[in-house]
Amino acid sequence: MKNNLLPDLFTLTAIFEGMEDAVLSHDLDYIILNCNPAAEKMFGCPAPVLLGQNILTLIPESVRQEQLAILERVWSGERINHLYTVRSSKLQIDFPVSLTISPIRDEQGEVIGASHIMRDVTHEKETEEKRGMLAAIVENSDDAIISKTLNGIITTWNGGAEKIFGYQERETIGKHISILIPRDRLSEEDVIIENIRNGNKVDHFQTVRLHKNGSAIDISLTVSPVKDRHGTIIGASKIARDITAAKKAETAIRHQAAKLKILNTIGKAISEKLDTESILQKVTDATTQITGAAFGAFFYNTINQDGEAYMLYSLSGAPKEAFENFGMPRNTAVFHRTFSGEGVLRVDDITKDPRYGRNAPHFGMPEGHLPVVSYLAVPVISSSGNIIGGLFFGHPEAGVFMQEHEDIVVSLASQAAVALDNSRLFTEVKELSQKKDEFIALASHELKTPLTSMSGFLQLLERKVIDVNRPFVAKAITQLKKLNALINDLFDISKIQSGKLQFYFEEFDFTGLIKENLEAIREAYTSHEIYFDESGEMILEGDKMRLDQVLTNLVTNAIKYSPESDRIEVSAKRSETEIQVSVKDYGMGINEENISHIFSQFYRAKDVNRSITGLGLGLYITKEIIERHGGRIWVESEPRMGSTFFFVLPLKKRSSVNGHLQKKEEEKVLKL
Ligand code: ADP
Repeated sequence: MKNNLLPDLFTLTAIFEGMEDAVLSHDLDYIILNCNPAAEKMFGCPAPVLLGQNILTLIPESVRQEQLAILERVWSGERINHLYTVRSSKLQIDFPVSLTISPIRDEQGEVIGASHIMRDVTHEKETEEKRGMLAAIVENSDDAIISKTLNGIITTWNGGAEKIFGYQERETIGKHISILIPRDRLSEEDVIIENIRNGNKVDHFQTVRLHKNGSAIDISLTVSPVKDRHGTIIGASKIARDITAAKKAETAIRHQAAKLKILNTIGKAISEKLDTESILQKVTDATTQITGAAFGAFFYNTINQDGEAYMLYSLSGAPKEAFENFGMPRNTAVFHRTFSGEGVLRVDDITKDPRYGRNAPHFGMPEGHLPVVSYLAVPVISSSGNIIGGLFFGHPEAGVFMQEHEDIVVSLASQAAVALDNSRLFTEVKELSQKKDEFIALASHELKTPLTSMSGFLQLLERKVIDVNRPFVAKAITQLKKLNALINDLFDISKIQSGKLQFYFEEFDFTGLIKENLEAIREAYTSHEIYFDESGEMILEGDKMRLDQVLTNLVTNAIKYSPESDRIEVSAKRSETEIQVSVKDYGMGINEENISHIFSQFYRAKDVNRSITGLGLGLYITKEIIERHGGRIWVESEPRMGSTFFFVLPLKKRSSVNGHLQKKEEEKVLKL
């Protein structure tokens, strides 16, 4: 009956043959007696070869002793279950197996051999190792790696997450992910889950999450769907990187760039200014704004025209009255520090400072005075090292001014010092130039009166003297004329400066004027041939006498500066609207550096032989006359090859000529 329940031999053979696990049996001498097809496959050896072999040949040396010991236990009837060990294939390749060894008994129950059932666990082992490695990576990552279900319930929590969010693993598993999400960002989670459900990854999403202590953390989030073995999305794994430091660095860089930009803009703006008051105001406004001060002041020591020291100041954020009864800053202890060279003073709460309030009569904050708590004072030091002023900032709250504010103000203070120095120099130069103009005006006026009477007397004398002395008188008259011309130039200059150079416009033939002018010059100067290339009558509206002066100046210069040549060429041609005149010589020429200066007053080219006399005024006056006619003058020249001076004049007086005086005034200031 019992036997009937046992499977028959055919069935057993079929099972044996069809098993996925390899099966081998051997006797007490380790000789293999049986093997199934799975064993043949596992060891890479057909049954005829396997059978009769010693099983120890399939066991690598390294584990052989251990295996023999195990077999000893089997001989005593023990069954060994699921032992992880190694086997060796015919090609001597070792592979991991899960092994079960059972004793084989004879009918009397005596152990006569053993059966080995083996499963190749290479793949499982690899998977296991991989899993272990991944687990170690996850655990040791600095990033927070968290997995959650599609309902947002946290299922895993690594060490990085502990560090970033402050919660221990046990505090979070089973909790909803929203414990990490700020209230105003809860909707983000819906969007993320929606993406995950659709199989999409959320990549590097920058957002804010909460630390256990409630503080906000800037993070970059990557969330990916987690699938089960059938590919169904069952949750999400999220990697959160703390980017607070990166964000801070980014903000710091942005801050720094903005700061530089501001510094640059303000620096440029103040360096372009030349009047003290607007520099003070610009610097005060800018620094007050940048520091976030409620009020700012710039006190500046200066000297008035009588040489007395006084203090200028500009304010920002507060009316002048707020400072009026306060007295000058040098009188108070806190201000004193800044002016006495003790450097920058930055105080979070000046009311707690021992220096504060020691100053009679206020002893503390005077009634109705600005409520200063945060205080920043920066000295303004000139390039010579003198303290020329101070920048002061206040705020009614404590701790407002930071190191970065101090740095900016210090930097702007030094730029302000340079700008103020320039402004002072500019004022000095302007004053000196004014004095020079006054002197020229006075001298030329005073010289002109005796010269006029001398000239009259000499002319009388010329008529009266006897023939032998006449040449001397004539020479005296020629020299007097030269002197007269020089004084006239000086006189013109002072009239140009004061805007009083008068013009009398009339219509006349310019060709005729040139001819007359050249004729007079030819008489006076015989050293050069003067050629005139004319093109007929050219009626022009202009000041005949002044234009005659222009021609004389250009042609006599051409003669003066070409002592080694003997040819001057003058040409005049007209278009529909203007006349162009040129005066060409073959003399010493003018180098490029001098070309840009020769039309300035008192300028003479440095390389000109000093025996050629002149004051450097002719071209300045010439340019003034041409421009007052609405024309232009320029020169083309090459050293040692000669020069050609050109000017153009409009045929009709232009209305823009009226605006010329104002423009001239502006230019005068710019040139200084
Ligand atoms: P001055 O001749 O009294 O020095 P100007 O104002 O007429 O003053 O000329 C200014 C300077 O320009 C001269 O000193 C000279 O260096 C240069 N200059 C003017 N005309 C010529 C010229 N034709 N050739 C070379 N240099 C010239």
